[in-house]
Amino acid sequence: MKVYNFSAGPSTLPQPVLEKVQKEFLNFRNSGMSVVEISHRAKLFMEVVDELTSSFKEVMNIPDNYKVIFVQGGASTQFEAVPLNLLVKGKADYLVTGNFAKKAYKEAMKYGDISCAASSEDKTFTYIPREYNIREDIDYVHMCHNNTIFGTRYTFVPDTKGALLVADMSSSILSQEVDISKYGVIYAGAQKNVAPAGVTIVIVREDLLERTMDICPTMLKWKTQVDNDSLYNTPPCFSMYVANLVMDWIKEMGGVKEMQKINEYKAGLLYDFIDNSSFYTNSVNKADRSMMNVPFVSPSKDLDAAFVKEAEASGLTALKGHRLVGGMRASIYNAMPVEGVKTLIDFMKKFEQANK
Ligand SMILES: *Cc1c(COP(=O)(O)O)cnc(C)c1O
Repeated sequence: MKVYNFSAGPSTLPQPVLEKVQKEFLNFRNSGMSVVEISHRAKLFMEVVDELTSSFKEVMNIPDNYKVIFVQGGASTQFEAVPLNLLVKGKADYLVTGNFAKKAYKEAMKYGDISCAASSEDKTFTYIPREYNIREDIDYVHMCHNNTIFGTRYTFVPDTKGALLVADMSSSILSQEVDISKYGVIYAGAQKNVAPAGVTIVIVREDLLERTMDICPTMLKWKTQVDNDSLYNTPPCFSMYVANLVMDWIKEMGGVKEMQKINEYKAGLLYDFIDNSSFYTNSVNKADRSMMNVPFVSPSKDLDAAFVKEAEASGLTALKGHRLVGGMRASIYNAMPVEGVKTLIDFMKKFEQANK
């Protein structure tokens, strides 16, 4: 049975990438060794890091005055790395649009005068606020570009009144074109759209590397990895290796521009189906809907549970919604083929017929 994996993360990876990994797992680039057993300082692996770094710059159209580094600890570690690297005046404002955004906000509070500039918690994070309370003289504004759990996304760059903008793009990186120059820092855990869990991508504007808080641990300081080409210590080699293959796959697919088109098409199919159905509902403000994570419910909790169970048995896995939201959630990242979304919609039709 063909299985489509709708997991929010770790999530499905492109089939051709997995096949390549399998094919060369025991003999990486004719070295007679596996990529997971060579030194991270060996020329063979340094090539991977070089390729990965330049691929990111190329594919994401990253301006020359930005650095790309690969670190460990997941996006969650960046929740503390951001204030530790950027809080020099001691003030920052946070846009609280979901669970991860709130975690980032709470973490930053340990390090300075942190304020919530806008929140959508009043309506269980089903929309992106349009009004902000940005203070004067702050070090940065932090936002979460795509809210993985609640299925919302920024379709615009928030007005920070000139303050530096920092974005968590864990669940949307490489899914759509981004004007990097609008951001000071972008970070993302790999396990949604880039690679297996392990590596975290940080894109940082060069001039920001000098303003670290004194107490910032060496390992959290972005400059440490910038100065060492992401090889200050042992990096998450396997995850970086797979990320490099995913970058090749994206290039073959026509780049991020093409990925965006496909993602718009996939999400469009699913949302259109949900909107035209009287059985399924998505409660997110339409203008703020995520292209990557689509939460929806059936008419009852019992039917939701039956849906998840029957879908699983039909090869459509990991559709259970996050515990904070309930219902279902289909994560349709870059690697989810159009066919997977169509198969899901077919299943949804059948389930509706059988249960309405
Ligand atoms: C998954 C996720 C995180 C947490 O990532 P980890 O790598 O598990 O720390 C943070 N932010 C967003 C938007 C996410 O989707």
